[in-house]
Amino acid sequence: MRRLGVIAVAKRAGFSLDEARILLEATDGGDPAHEPLRALAERKLPEIEALIDRAEQVKRWLEVAQDCGCETLDVCGLFDEHVSARSNAANGQFGHVHLATRRDAPVGRS
Ligand SMILES: [Zn+2]
Repeated sequence: MRRLGVIAVAKRAGFSLDEARILLEATDGGDPAHEPLRALAERKLPEIEALIDRAEQVKRWLEVAQDCGCETLDVCGLFDEHVSARSNAANGQFGHVHLATRRDAPVGRS
């Protein structure tokens, strides 16, 4: 049986070594492979989806941050936890007051 290959692929799918072992032991014991595999996949999918959500939030934050023109972090909407938490939930955007201002009025009005 291709144990090493199974472990490598399982690892790439985000399974721990213990979880890969569960797969191997189940099939070693003669049980159908799909049962532990489905159970693990079902448990793993929400974790990965949450990870993608977090990564997308970080990506949006960084996209806004690379255009930040704030003089100090105190005035920067990116570091306003209330604003970003609220607007994240609302529309997936980070509040960034200075960015919005800059879009309307070109340089000079700060
Ligand atoms: Zn800023």
